[in-house]
Amino acid sequence: MNKINFNNKKTTPCKIVCVGRNYVDHIKELNNEIPSEPIYFIKPNSSISEDIIWREGMHYEGEISFLIKDKKIIGVGFGFDLTLRNIQSKLKQKMLPWERAKAFKGAAVFSDFMLCSDFEGLEVEVIKNGETVQRGGVELMMYKPDFLVRDIDEIFGLDDFDIVMSGTPKGVGEVEKGDEFIGRIYKDGKILVEKSWRVS
Ligand code: ZN
Repeated sequence: MNKINFNNKKTTPCKIVCVGRNYVDHIKELNNEIPSEPIYFIKPNSSISEDIIWREGMHYEGEISFLIKDKKIIGVGFGFDLTLRNIQSKLKQKMLPWERAKAFKGAAVFSDFMLCSDFEGLEVEVIKNGETVQRGGVELMMYKPDFLVRDIDEIFGLDDFDIVMSGTPKGVGEVEKGDEFIGRIYKDGKILVEKSWRVS
């Protein structure tokens, strides 16, 4: 099983529950409809990777990611919900499930997770080749983290060290070989955690 770092210890998330279309500005950029209830999909533990490995048509989506224990948020980290946009578009058209586009090996890439039990003032930033391409935070989310955790637990059940990825702000785009990415989480305007990657 793949592990992530939380507070200087290794933990094993069983699953990652992702929220689709949680920022209005990102819904508009993909010409999607505003959902009447949250959209969820799941990435398995086997999709977790330390590195970003290039694949054709792959987009980055930077997301505030929460670590769960006892049905509550205990940690926060930066996460990439990597998406094969070309395949996802075809699956959407045919009303088919998204796993091939969202749950493949290497589709979930995280920074370390830091202790954090409240979500006020959290923001995510993605810097691609030195330029900020995404920045947004909890105040722009349609469904807030406390609601999402309760709702997801009711529907799927949340186990200790599962991860909830809370959706992506506008500015998603393609990943190319050799790209340099920095993913950051801010708390009240200060950097809480960051990690950098070079796409291989
Ligand atoms: Zn996403």
